[in-house]
Amino acid sequence: MLAGKWDYNLISRIQQANDIVDVISEHLNLEKKGKEMVGLCPFHTDHKPSMFVSPVKQIFKCFACGAGGDVLKFVQMRENLTFPETVRRLAQRAGIEIEPPRRRSDGPEGEQLDSSKLEKINAWALKNWVENLWHPETGAAVRKYITDRGLSEDLARKWQLGFAADTWDDLTSKAAHKNDAAKYLTQAGLAVQREQGGCYDKFRNRLMFPIMDVTGRVIGFGGRTLGDDPAKYMNSPATVLFDKSHSLYGLYQSRQAISQSGTAVVVEGYTDVMMAHQFGVENVVAALGTSLTNGHARILRRYAKRIVLIFDSDVAGKAAADRAMEVCLEQKIDVRLAFAPNGKDPCDYLLEAGTEAFKDLIDTAEDVLEFKWSVLNEQLEGGQNLSDRTEAIRRFLQTAALALQSRQMDSVSRTVVLGRLSELLGISVSRVEQEIAMILKKKRRRPQSNDEDAQATQDFEERQDLVSKAQREILETVLAHPDCFPRVSERVSAGDFGPNEALRELAQAIYGLFAEGIPLQLSQLYSRVESAAAANLLTELQTAVEQKTNLLSQLDGALAALENRTHSRRIQLLKQGMDKDNELKQMLSQIAQKGPNLRNAGI
Ligand SMILES: [Zn+2]
Repeated sequence: MLAGKWDYNLISRIQQANDIVDVISEHLNLEKKGKEMVGLCPFHTDHKPSMFVSPVKQIFKCFACGAGGDVLKFVQMRENLTFPETVRRLAQRAGIEIEPPRRRSDGPEGEQLDSSKLEKINAWALKNWVENLWHPETGAAVRKYITDRGLSEDLARKWQLGFAADTWDDLTSKAAHKNDAAKYLTQAGLAVQREQGGCYDKFRNRLMFPIMDVTGRVIGFGGRTLGDDPAKYMNSPATVLFDKSHSLYGLYQSRQAISQSGTAVVVEGYTDVMMAHQFGVENVVAALGTSLTNGHARILRRYAKRIVLIFDSDVAGKAAADRAMEVCLEQKIDVRLAFAPNGKDPCDYLLEAGTEAFKDLIDTAEDVLEFKWSVLNEQLEGGQNLSDRTEAIRRFLQTAALALQSRQMDSVSRTVVLGRLSELLGISVSRVEQEIAMILKKKRRRPQSNDEDAQATQDFEERQDLVSKAQREILETVLAHPDCFPRVSERVSAGDFGPNEALRELAQAIYGLFAEGIPLQLSQLYSRVESAAAANLLTELQTAVEQKTNLLSQLDGALAALENRTHSRRIQLLKQGMDKDNELKQMLSQIAQKGPNLRNAGI
């Protein structure tokens, strides 16, 4: 996401309303040291306090690992949030009412507006359902159902379980007198339109589980039938707020424990998640009736290095293994599989065997690649003879090839994966590569030979290094001597920075501040870059600025280097344009030559 599209007045207000010392103190102990505060840095293993917080400048900086930023960046990095999520979180903390953080370019109508309405209607529905559950008479049987399952009432309250009553119009009648509420109930998938007009409740006689996003918004629901409805579980349909393949039940409650343990345990059911929490295992979430997706892995990767999938049988595990293996390779996250004994789901297993046994199950989970490999060998009766073994390798690599083909895999990860496969299969890396190339060849034309590829990559990287160096020097100089910005901006524009994303983002933020005539201030700059990478880059450049003395003398050289690159890029584009012109001329002359023939043919 590019900088420059936010309402920075609002972001600035949110920044000022959340004092950085207060916020950081919620996460670690700060002690006063001169004009600043110091504490143990949470972004690396810190043994002496390396993190400095400046109450005056409202910024933080770790002198050991180089993390730095304003209050927004601290929360963003600490809680693994996206920038919009951070904005929302700190606005809430300061009691600032915001429309969902909207970019200036969006109109008043559209997706964002709808999502804020849906969020409200979900919250309203939940409130009703929670009231039903704790109503002395209405909810009595359901509360008994919950405790019969072994879940405590405390937990049910904490997780905001609710009861959708066994009527057609519980929500819809309560919403009847509210403006447009019926419309939004329908949009949120909580009510269904009748053909003859009006609408009725979608969820009836169900135990309701609110599904929250990482900032605690209720984005959807899962409902378990309390009667004999053949649909045992029912989820909210997809809305602008809710996308099953990107949502995990319990993530809001489990994210700290996942982050601390580095492991995210993924189970199948809502009650599995809650029961695990009840037994003190809190790094557990549930995928919502789907198998693990790339979307899930991308979210979990923000918190964990490892995902452990728990299945209630190895049959279910085998069925899900291929998909899990692809996710593992594509998302570069360690995926392991575990099976609760005797076909029990984690909920029952916890009740029967207890916390330690459950933790053991997680600790002894099997690596998905090894699992898949052993399953194949079993199928081929142990891979005793050579042809069976070859067949097993081929089938295994068939699954791996799909992931390796993915565009998300850079060359370093590819090398790591190839090494891993070679080790596992007991064949050389080059053989793995050969086999995979064979498999992929059937699907597409063979790519360039690897040597050429590698050489081209290396040349490219060296050029990029020089360009990045020049760009860093330019930004350093501007940070140290804001008065020389006009000299810079008349020669290079913000668009000339890149391809390094962090450099591009930071340059845009700096150019943006100057364009609006706002004095160059670190806290202002931090609030205008969205990524942690750009914030850390700013910290790094600022540190360099404080140490270098000859910044102005490097400026001309750096500007010239960047101008050169921009010119050669333009020339390249022009050439491409001219090639097109030439093609066009050729085509025209061909048509001209064929002209008489065409006419003779009567066309
Ligand atoms: Zn640090």
